[in-house]
Amino acid sequence: MIHLKKVLKHFSATLLIAVLFSGSIFSTSKAEEEAGPAFAPPVVKSTVPEAGPGMNLRSDCVVVLDPGHGKTDGHYSGCHFEYNGVTYYEDIITMKIANYTKEYLEKNSNYTVYLTKDSSEVTVPLDQRASFAASVHADLFVSLHVDSIAGNGTTRNAYGASSMSPRTGRFNDGIALQSQEAANTILNQLTSLGLHNRGLILQDSKNGTLYPDGSTADYYAIPRYSQMYGIRGFIIEHGYINYISDLTLFLSTDDQLKALGEADAKGIIEYLNKAGKSTFVPAKQGPGAPASN
Ligand SMILES: [Zn+2]
Repeated sequence: MIHLKKVLKHFSATLLIAVLFSGSIFSTSKAEEEAGPAFAPPVVKSTVPEAGPGMNLRSDCVVVLDPGHGKTDGHYSGCHFEYNGVTYYEDIITMKIANYTKEYLEKNSNYTVYLTKDSSEVTVPLDQRASFAASVHADLFVSLHVDSIAGNGTTRNAYGASSMSPRTGRFNDGIALQSQEAANTILNQLTSLGLHNRGLILQDSKNGTLYPDGSTADYYAIPRYSQMYGIRGFIIEHGYINYISDLTLFLSTDDQLKALGEADAKGIIEYLNKAGKSTFVPAKQGPGAPASN
């Protein structure tokens, strides 16, 4: 069951979709980045709100921010870590970062900014998030996450920000290149705060999923769906929740999360200033029709 709730704030169009659904598809912290059907459903209709006072939907950029994870069956599905008696949850952190990013973008640009949900208490299926981003012709679709590594991040020396992006040199190559450039621009902004830059993580499908032209599909769902829809889309991981200095310097207070959100926003503005709107070309075969697997 899906409920869509439209909320208009100030004079800019703001659509928050709250999607409630039953059933659990994510059970571990990494699952969300990886899980989901091979391809998201075809876009059947646009959910862009009707133009109204102050809206300028045609001439300015559209940004869709996707706060990673959310509650499923009463439990947060993202990673979490307890430190000094406080438990930190990825689901809550990504929701806060997304709101700070949105706030900064709305103050400092004329972009139309959408979140894929308005609460860390809900989880939206990955294919629906991408389908939504495509339906509003997102010029940038950014899924916000926090990393973790099994065991102890500090002893494993896993720290810093990274991006799961689509690989270039195959299906929708131009869009993949643009996604990588946008991701790198955001990573550079995060690095300026002091986060280590782990760079782009490009990974191929592990089960033989192919794009319509027969080339190997990307492994992570958000870049894979984005490539299928022909939109710029990727994941940004904002440091490791279980690496102590990442946690204490970047992820443990609202001020720190605000700094991350604003760095994301500055990277988004920097990229879109340079690249402009995306030329949206709907996938010819429809994302619902993978070539195989
Ligand atoms: Zn995550």
